[in-house]
Amino acid sequence: MAQEISRVILERAKSVGRLSVDQIMSIFELERQNQTDIDRVLTKLEGCTKLVLLDMDGTITTERFVSELAKATGKTEQLMALLDSENVDAATRSQDIAALFRFVHKSQFKQVARAIPIRDDVIAVVNALRRRGYKVGVVSDSYFVAAEIVRRRIFADFALAHTLSFDAGVCQGSLLVNRAFYHVDGCAEHECCKSNVLRYIFEQEPVLQQANVVAVGDNLNDVCLLKLAQRAFTIEPKHPALSDASITQISHFGQLLILMSQETAVPEDMELQVV
Ligand SMILES: [Zn+2]
Repeated sequence: MAQEISRVILERAKSVGRLSVDQIMSIFELERQNQTDIDRVLTKLEGCTKLVLLDMDGTITTERFVSELAKATGKTEQLMALLDSENVDAATRSQDIAALFRFVHKSQFKQVARAIPIRDDVIAVVNALRRRGYKVGVVSDSYFVAAEIVRRRIFADFALAHTLSFDAGVCQGSLLVNRAFYHVDGCAEHECCKSNVLRYIFEQEPVLQQANVVAVGDNLNDVCLLKLAQRAFTIEPKHPALSDASITQISHFGQLLILMSQETAVPEDMELQVV
């Protein structure tokens, strides 16, 4: 609501010429970025007792967002060269990929995020989980501008991802890593790690440390998060590390709901079965 009010006030100020359009755009941009701040997300999780965290690229979607964006902007070859480059650490590679999309308009990012294929049953499963009292979050190493659209498409509660800065709707080519991926007592293996997101959530909602946290991922950057959750699933895994005994492989999203149901003592509500 506060956001809506500030927008109305700003719109009015704009109409009487007290604020420049650029200033207003900057305020909207800050507000947009703020939506993926861990403090904002934690307020949505107050009192949460059941949580599902979903990776985006390759898990919710079948394709990688950056690959689809590169295709749409004619930058596939350059992207492939960056992805294949050796002796480059992950952080530098991420910045290099962000720089590749400098001057691409935000509308193009959004268009690609709206069009990227989503796996069958994801929407039905998220819907069923939310009706069972789960909060559902998208945790992605991709861009928030895309993760937020994918979140809305699947009706999840929140999205945590990294932000690209846009100036007047134009990508500036620099990536701001989400602070939720860093934690003072975080992952021993990685400074920047998806599992750290869950550590912030555990600190606020310690009850979740005992049970009812489910994570789904498909790649190496998901493994620490999957191991920290009580139940972990993978779909079309892209790395041998996902074959860990603690991670259950599923072939489609409907199976997730079935397997989760089998482990709960609560009688099944057949209405919630999607397959
Ligand atoms: Zn880690």
